[in-house]
Amino acid sequence: MRRIAQAPNLAIATLWVHALREGGVDASVQREYLGAAMGQLPPDQCLPEVWIEDDGQFDLAERLLDELRNRPQRRWQCQCGELVEGGFEQCWRCGAMMPPHRAST
Ligand SMILES: [Zn+2]
Repeated sequence: MRRIAQAPNLAIATLWVHALREGGVDASVQREYLGAAMGQLPPDQCLPEVWIEDDGQFDLAERLLDELRNRPQRRWQCQCGELVEGGFEQCWRCGAMMPPHRAST
């Protein structure tokens, strides 16, 4: 088991795990593992973590995550200022839907 990334929220973590599994990497979400055990961190600092089963797949997993994060068409700026990543069509902060595609093309 090895930690590959820390996600900003559980929805993103779940999406990443899903993408990793599609890429052939056995991954899982480990949430608030340390913080909950120690009882020291406030809830908003207990970010979900994505772990992979097989350490030998770390490089592959990292590449998959990089691809996922760097898809420009999957990132948009919400009216509230939040940068929404990971293919979501709804802002995780304020709940607004992704604005319609701009007519610039
Ligand atoms: Zn928003």
